[in-house]
Amino acid sequence: MQPEALFGMALGITAPWEVTDVSFSKESNRLDITIDFQRGATFTCPVCGASAPAHDTTEKTWRHLNFFQYEAYLHARVPRVNCPNEGCGVKQIQVPWARAGSGFTLLFEALVMTMARDMPVNVMARLFSVTDTRLWRVINAYVETARANEDYSDVKRIGVDETSTRKGHNYVTFFFDLDAKKLLFGTEGKDNKTVTEFVTDLLKHGGDPEQITDAAIDMSKAFIKGINEQLPNAVTTFDRFHLIKLMNEVMGTIRSEEARKFPEFLRKTRYLFLKNPEKLSPEEQARLDTMVANQCHKSVEAYTHKLNLQNVYFAESRQEAETLLSQWHKKASKSSIDLIQKMARTVKDHWGGILSYFDSLLTTGFLEGINSLIQAAKARARGYRNPRNMISMAYLIAGKLKFNKLYAQPT
Ligand SMILES: [Zn+2]
Repeated sequence: MQPEALFGMALGITAPWEVTDVSFSKESNRLDITIDFQRGATFTCPVCGASAPAHDTTEKTWRHLNFFQYEAYLHARVPRVNCPNEGCGVKQIQVPWARAGSGFTLLFEALVMTMARDMPVNVMARLFSVTDTRLWRVINAYVETARANEDYSDVKRIGVDETSTRKGHNYVTFFFDLDAKKLLFGTEGKDNKTVTEFVTDLLKHGGDPEQITDAAIDMSKAFIKGINEQLPNAVTTFDRFHLIKLMNEVMGTIRSEEARKFPEFLRKTRYLFLKNPEKLSPEEQARLDTMVANQCHKSVEAYTHKLNLQNVYFAESRQEAETLLSQWHKKASKSSIDLIQKMARTVKDHWGGILSYFDSLLTTGFLEGINSLIQAAKARARGYRNPRNMISMAYLIAGKLKFNKLYAQPT
């Protein structure tokens, strides 16, 4: 068998296309495969589907999967057809091995999409010797097409979370389906307009904002306003994960302020305070005891308030939770520490939303888990040039999108 015929079969090239030349250069580290169409071939008009002969052609090149360690390229002259049907005019046809407008073959793009889940895009760019901008273009295109096929008509309970990008200068807000456990929508910003954009996207995918019964959010005014205005039937729940996170931040500030006064006891204890007592090692427990004995009162008090607030979530009914939360609030509002008093006021201001967790029992474990997926997305998108790339990566990792059909060759 001639190498041309062999490569033609391996590439799945069928008439009127055929491989006409294969040239290999060890020096330039590449394999070049030329494909051409047979004389007198007709092609399908991309507008109406009618058959038409080639009108003229343009030379094009596509990067293909590596041939062993060598870069492989396909070359072909791609015809434009002058369609006999009025209104179509002169149009470039679609080749069976690549997406319109792409400089990569479908198989190469499928590999990119598979690898992108597990490998940072800038590492992949180095591996393939292509610019990361080109890879992002591929990822964005597939994510966009896969998202266009998504159906949101069953979405009822959502969770909203924001994350910073680029060292905290910008924010991206993500909307999740808490039942399907997947990312529905991501957008730049963290104001109430993000909710409006989510609703627009939801409608575009057959969803119904009036059907949303629950929204788990952090205690941001912007999200509260957005949900109240845009999702008329949604009960707002202040997410357990976010509430404890906020309490941990308050505790952290108190600890680091006190650490300046008692560095000998409080230096490098941040992680100790984030642990629950039963998880403390004997050594850590001893350190905590030393703090108690040596008047690191504020840190230890903050730790106690944190543990008691966490304890509210062990309640088995809303009623029991309300009793525990009232006890917590009573103590916290009498604290001599301003930040604890402030935390008590925050809890009071969001009382109903905190307790509605016990009615809706929104799966906060999912939001915690999703946080690590988003961190993974940021890592894969490392060096991403704009927030849109980061959002695309988040869809790829957490969106449960269906890509398989998209890599298939058009028939
Ligand atoms: Zn046509």
